[in-house]
Amino acid sequence: MKRIGIVVLTIILVATVTVMNRHWVLLQLASLVPIELLIEKQDEGPNVSWHDDYYTLEWLDSRTVAIGEPLYYQQNINYLIIGDERAVLFDAGSGLRSILPVAEQLTDKPITFIPSHFHYDHLGDGLPFDHIAVADLPHISHRADNGVLALKWHEHLGAAEGYATPTFEIDEWLKPGDELDLGNRKLTVIYTPGHTNDSISLFDPAADFLFSGDFIYQGPLFAFLPNSSLGDYEQGANHILEGTTKETKIYGAHRIKPPGVPVLRTSDVNDLKAGLANIRNGTLAPSGVYPAVYPINGWMDLWTEPGFLQNWEITYPD
Ligand SMILES: [Zn+2]
Repeated sequence: MKRIGIVVLTIILVATVTVMNRHWVLLQLASLVPIELLIEKQDEGPNVSWHDDYYTLEWLDSRTVAIGEPLYYQQNINYLIIGDERAVLFDAGSGLRSILPVAEQLTDKPITFIPSHFHYDHLGDGLPFDHIAVADLPHISHRADNGVLALKWHEHLGAAEGYATPTFEIDEWLKPGDELDLGNRKLTVIYTPGHTNDSISLFDPAADFLFSGDFIYQGPLFAFLPNSSLGDYEQGANHILEGTTKETKIYGAHRIKPPGVPVLRTSDVNDLKAGLANIRNGTLAPSGVYPAVYPINGWMDLWTEPGFLQNWEITYPD
């Protein structure tokens, strides 16, 4: 009996440690699974041109270009937002191929790189940019040493595809609510946590464009990652709805299929908010166990952890 008791206790201990460290364990497992990084070229429709054999360009207006990576399996979309004095590159993909020469061919203005968040597939392989601006959030800025920030594995997740976790220099801090003046073009920084607690979106009120990173896009929204929170997701949805209009065009950082760049609307953010409320009150049932997948509307699912592991904490209450 004593031996059985020891075995049971050991099993409980191992299971508890595994659950507590599940994100690290899952990342290690993910790093062992080979991934086909490139997918087949598809018809991108009439609004998209090929910059080379990897990147696509889609002009959203005369000063905004969506730089797509339709051959990378995550189908990233990065945005070059050009003002009279400077330009912003919002996200840079995984860096499978360098994006900076592409952006530099599209504008003669100095380019500031702004990541929507710190996941590896948005940093262009180690943030190889001269001028970098990031979200001024206490859990990030407090760690920066003379403007140099060392990311942590759970913020970056690069081990999934063999990327080292980077350390980089920050030139500019962006507080939520800040207005970024690009010269005859202003962008508002909106704090949109949920996918991660370091996520921001950029809003151009004049063009009525919102660049939403991984907060919302067409496809599966990941809310089961190490610094994901469903409470944060609700807050992020509210921040978008407070700061935008019914007509705002929302451009995310990934898509699931061509042609070109999908446009979402604030009605999709309302659908997401309603879905979160129904998850919270138990009236929306998931499919699957890990991740637990909740349907949001015809083109979005929310991938979360199962109910007993779901995090509803709000990182920075309003
Ligand atoms: Zn992400």
